Amino acid sequence: MERLTGIGVSPGVAVGRAVVLAQPSAVFRFPVPEDRVEREVGAIELARDQSRQQLADIRSRLSAGPGRDLAPLFDAQLLMLEDPLLVGRAQQIVRAERVNAGWALHRAYEELRRLFHEMEDPYLRERETDVADVVGRLRMNLQHRGAGLRDWLKEVEGPSILVADELTASLAAQLDWTRIQGFTVDAGSRTYHTAILARSLGVPAVVGLHDLSGRVPAGTTVVLDGTTGEVVLGADGAELDTAQRRADRPRRRSSLASAARGPLVTVEGTPVRLDANIELVEDLPSLHESGAEGIGLYRSEFLLSGRTLDDATEELQYAAYRSVLEQVAPRRVTIRTFDLDESHLLGSRARSRSRARGGLRGLRLGLSYPDVLRTQLRALMRASAHGSLRIMFPFVTGVDEVRQARAMVAAVSAELGRPAVPVGAMIEVPAAALAADLLAREVDFLTIGTNDLIQYTLAVDRTDDRVSDLYEPLHPAILRLVRLVSRAARRHAVPVSLCGEMASDPAMVGLLIGLGLTEFSMTPTAIPLVRQVVGDLHVDDARRLARHALSLATAAEVEQYLFDALAASVSGPLRGPQ
Ligand code: PEP
Ligand code: MG
Repeated sequence: MERLTGIGVSPGVAVGRAVVLAQPSAVFRFPVPEDRVEREVGAIELARDQSRQQLADIRSRLSAGPGRDLAPLFDAQLLMLEDPLLVGRAQQIVRAERVNAGWALHRAYEELRRLFHEMEDPYLRERETDVADVVGRLRMNLQHRGAGLRDWLKEVEGPSILVADELTASLAAQLDWTRIQGFTVDAGSRTYHTAILARSLGVPAVVGLHDLSGRVPAGTTVVLDGTTGEVVLGADGAELDTAQRRADRPRRRSSLASAARGPLVTVEGTPVRLDANIELVEDLPSLHESGAEGIGLYRSEFLLSGRTLDDATEELQYAAYRSVLEQVAPRRVTIRTFDLDESHLLGSRARSRSRARGGLRGLRLGLSYPDVLRTQLRALMRASAHGSLRIMFPFVTGVDEVRQARAMVAAVSAELGRPAVPVGAMIEVPAAALAADLLAREVDFLTIGTNDLIQYTLAVDRTDDRVSDLYEPLHPAILRLVRLVSRAARRHAVPVSLCGEMASDPAMVGLLIGLGLTEFSMTPTAIPLVRQVVGDLHVDDARRLARHALSLATAAEVEQYLFDALAASVSGPLRGPQ
């Protein structure tokens, strides 16, 4: 038996067997009952058979064509498949440790990698990428056994405790929380997200356990107390009985998969609206499942994927917009006009997906190519007969652009004899945020796009990994800009929402509500969790939290403060220091 003390961040006692999650590989390690060990061994064998067949097919296809020089590479991979240090070793690990096939394969691969690193011969060292390729193939074939993380947990007998090095909101959204009693996380600092996550899920959690995920054997009995931060490994006898009695309180929230619906309010009854961000018409089923009120951001430029601009005729666009509006009606749909840069528009070979450049982009581009914008506006205004439409312009930098765009909308409406629809501007660049009061007079609504606002304000290109860790949503400059926009909108009685990734983050939403926002649009899968956080939120507390956060000097200080406030309220609601 071993006792550890971490920081309790979500109250309650939980007991279960350890299921371990180690990232970045995101490979689970869980115990397999004795009678299923041979099934796991067989699964690895089956994955090898399938991989062998696939590699042989690739090889013979290559040998018959112009790629024949590459064929020997696949001979090498076929040989690796038979190497006892890989598949054989993985099977040995399953039998010896009674763990799942995926984890055993991961372990065998790590051992092999270490061997390769020690090799003197650079030619042999380079073969490591081939091993990675073979392992990737085996993993893919193994995964086809089940549909994903939710199914993997079904394999685990009895209640479990998730022991993770790190747990992200996106991963949490994929797990079946009816099977997990509680969780621990290794990281000790900047764990605000984890704490919010645990509270939203209603499961006990302890953070700050250093290397626990790296050393706890899968299947170990774990008792954790999310109030005191105590974790006991291998508890038995009277201690286990007591823990089990304390854990047996029915307090569990529903699993995230069952999204709540209907109007959402905070504890005091302040209405909060959660919409979905959508890229394609095919995303609509996930919108319906998520419990979103409507669509807060439809990224229309995705219509152009795989098409030239000439293909995206008024008719084609009209059909797409009409279909979305009809499927979502009577709920509201906000369609953003194409947010492209010139290289996309012209189909240039030099096209780049990076939107971090300050050239012709978004509304600016639309105004420079008025025919393109007019075609889109015609399609939108015609489609507006079929539902509740709002038109939104991206990458707005000032009032003159908005006036020109609105004039075009008015002209198109008149041409088609269609009544006006609400027209809004995205606040994605610092100029727009700083002039939000001026923009608010010109539009029917504002939407803060924090993805771009953060990168332009902090001068950090998110696609450049040398600086991407400087991309800080909690940077004081960002919090100030969000407050500025939210105040300007309120003063001019113009609705304002926020649709960047920040809105999808359950850890941020309290702060954003404290900054005055009550409308958000996000990835549909994030909605159930954010909904839970909002439903438990006291607006007064959120305001106090935001006020203090705004007085802090760095993103790290803000995050630490949010975490401390949460930890201080471990057995009560989230409150800032009094
Ligand atoms: C944003 O910039 O926050 C936004 C929602 O737009 P996109 O992510 O499409 O650039
Ligand atoms: Mg943007």
